[in-house]
Amino acid sequence: MGATIVVLGGGVGGLVAANELRRQLHSGHRVVLIERNQHHAFAPGFLWLMTGRRRPDDIRRPLNQLLRRGLEFLPAEVLEIDTSRRRIRTSAGVLSYDFLVVSLGAELTPEAVPGFATAAETFYSFDGALRLLERLRSFAGGRVAVVIASLPYKCPAAPYEGAMLIAEYLRRRGLSAKVTVQLFTPEPQPLPVAGPRVGEAIRQLLKARGVEFYPLHQLTAVEPAVRRLLFANGSEVAYDLLVGIPPHRAPRVVTEAGLTNPVGWIPVDAHTLLTRDERVYAIGDVTVIPLPGRWRSDVPLMLPKAGVFAHAQGHVVAQRIAAEVNGRPSSATFCGHGYCMLETGQDFAGFAYGNFFAQPAPEVHLKQLGRAWHVAKVLFEKWWLAPVGVRRTLLQWFLEAGGKLYGVPVRL
Ligand SMILES: Cc1cc2nc3c(=O)[nH]c(=O)nc-3n(C[C@H](O)[C@H](O)[C@H](O)COP(=O)(O)OP(=O)(O)OC[C@H]3O[C@@H](n4cnc5c(N)ncnc54)[C@H](O)[C@@H]3O)c2cc1C
Repeated sequence: MGATIVVLGGGVGGLVAANELRRQLHSGHRVVLIERNQHHAFAPGFLWLMTGRRRPDDIRRPLNQLLRRGLEFLPAEVLEIDTSRRRIRTSAGVLSYDFLVVSLGAELTPEAVPGFATAAETFYSFDGALRLLERLRSFAGGRVAVVIASLPYKCPAAPYEGAMLIAEYLRRRGLSAKVTVQLFTPEPQPLPVAGPRVGEAIRQLLKARGVEFYPLHQLTAVEPAVRRLLFANGSEVAYDLLVGIPPHRAPRVVTEAGLTNPVGWIPVDAHTLLTRDERVYAIGDVTVIPLPGRWRSDVPLMLPKAGVFAHAQGHVVAQRIAAEVNGRPSSATFCGHGYCMLETGQDFAGFAYGNFFAQPAPEVHLKQLGRAWHVAKVLFEKWWLAPVGVRRTLLQWFLEAGGKLYGVPVRL
């Protein structure tokens, strides 16, 4: 009898894992993807939505257009994960599994900081980016505060990119003289996990684009009535437009299933992505993986929550499960390599890449700014949103060949 593999979450990791499983397993086995949204959006594109460089339909697709033939898509809310009986309860019924992949991502919880939900705009969601575009279009000048509310948050570079793109947008509107853009974060430097050199390079990028940077600022509350931010270090800052990166947490259904650790994320084996249960894998933002050699106050820093890792992990778990279903051993492991095209405005981007599992500490490099990295990000967007077929294959070939040419490891 065939096996049933259930993938929870049709975001980055879930989409890759489900498609790859379908590709590797013969049709006698079922692969079921459960996702509550009928559409899939390309999150890096939220930054372009916010600045009017993309229209809504440019960066989202009906999810079923992105799925391989034979992959079962169940549009439903996951209500309960019962690992002892290997059953998933959803808003569309109950499903049993032989193997489970949890890729439910991180939820935004703006209500976790008093005043934040009513006061803050955000480019961390599709709808939020659209609303923020309207605010930026009508903004007459004043203080823009971009605030990372708490750690961890997904995509360590996105708030920095967002601040630079907002500064550029307002400059293009001729408001430079009337605007200040300030970025507040609890982090000691930009991208702490990437080390001091990369952090300093990003500080310089912010400075050159007129973005003031305030590290070690932990937000405690927002007072919307008087437009004031309160920080744990005692400082109080006035703003006219608040752009917030809301606090993140694992979806409640994952916590209630007992899969999370005391910090609230799913601990997994760093290389196999297995949870405590030998039939349950977890990938992407919902997981927590400590890194070697980077500490803050005696706590190890964690692998950043980023699509590039969810993507690579999706491949690994698909290969491992397919091998096990077929009765073969699998040597597929996640090796901690990642990269990111960091948008800085005017169609320029930097390229950060490295091995986050390197010993004694992650080795991350930042290539010089160039238009090529921006073009690569646009090509990646086109590839990601293209249906399975010739165009997608061509884009993949082009991106991987480009990666080789520039001496950077790009595996799609
Ligand atoms: C503005 C922005 C820019 C970014 N830029 C980059 C970038 O340049 N590079 C990069 O690597 N990463 C980037 N990221 C981060 C990246 O998008 C995430 O890290 C990635 O999406 C994580 O993949 P995932 O599969 O773990 O979770 P997700 O992609 O978030 O998918 C989780 C899915 O689970 C579904 N779900 C959750 N709960 C339930 C439930 N109960 N029932 C049914 N479905 C459920 C959700 O609807 C969602 O579709 C960016 C993120 C943002 C917000």
